[in-house]
Amino acid sequence: MPDQYAVIGNPIGHTKSPLIHGMFAESCGQDIHYAAIEGQLGKFAQQVDSFRSSGGRGLNITAPFKLDAFAYATHRSEAATLAGAVNCLKFEGSDILAENFDGVGLSRDITHNLGVSMQGRRVLVLGAGGAARGALLPILRQQPSRLLIVNRDVAKAEALVQAVGHLGQVEAAGYDVLSGLHFDVVINATSASLTGGLPPVPASVFAQADLAYELAYGKGLTPFLQLASQAGVRRLADGVGMLAEQAAEAFLWWRGIRPDTRAVIDKLTVPLT
Ligand code: NDP
Repeated sequence: MPDQYAVIGNPIGHTKSPLIHGMFAESCGQDIHYAAIEGQLGKFAQQVDSFRSSGGRGLNITAPFKLDAFAYATHRSEAATLAGAVNCLKFEGSDILAENFDGVGLSRDITHNLGVSMQGRRVLVLGAGGAARGALLPILRQQPSRLLIVNRDVAKAEALVQAVGHLGQVEAAGYDVLSGLHFDVVINATSASLTGGLPPVPASVFAQADLAYELAYGKGLTPFLQLASQAGVRRLADGVGMLAEQAAEAFLWWRGIRPDTRAVIDKLTVPLT
């Protein structure tokens, strides 16, 4: 029987993970079975216990279970600990190993796939939720000259900076500080685009920018990307590459082989128009 993997979330109907891991397995010649599990609120541990006892080897975790997975783990990586959330589990005997590959997926998409360096550059992150939290360490590792996190709820951004501040120079603020400031890379890690909204960011932040990056994917030209495009930003991207790269990190962790992500990105890309 092939090794069993799955993604768990709720809702789960629109997940791309079975398609992505199916393509990875085929391209790497790995015999795995990958399913989608609809998680039930309050029953995460029970459902994962049952997946493990039926031979499950690893899980991808999506909303709203990233904190449940954090609590369920017996061993957490530095990335998972800093993010306070887990997007991938690996089962080895009684050990439950936890990782968070969202941030490294974002960083790799920007620097490797899009070819935009963050080293010595000014980076602005909008939002201070789970995705922003996971992204900070991998961004800091790129050694930007400035990293600013802005959020409507400034206390949340400040708490984030408190958590990672010892690892590098990072500042927190509200949107009101942005007028007159310029950045090289602007990352929208808010969930505003999921409902067609726009964080209150002034167009001027994009005036010298090389890249506007929208973490949401499959939404086409979101209001954030539209604003950036009108302001003359050189390059636009959505989170499809981040999705593929975090999945590739999970596949490598589970199977010991890193798949190429290009075919997956090409398959899932929605034009930014
Ligand atoms: P959370 O719910 O944890 O955080 C949401 C954040 O968005 C908060 O900082 C909130 O601010 C902010 N926000 C929401 N609406 C607005 C608005 N209208 N204006 C300004 N700020 C707003 O979400 P996640 O961090 O989990 O997800 C964020 C985004 O990242 C989503 O679009 C998600 O789809 C995407 N994502 C993409 C991944 C990928 O692989 N490409 C992986 C994970 C996430 P406040 O605190 O002030 O309310």
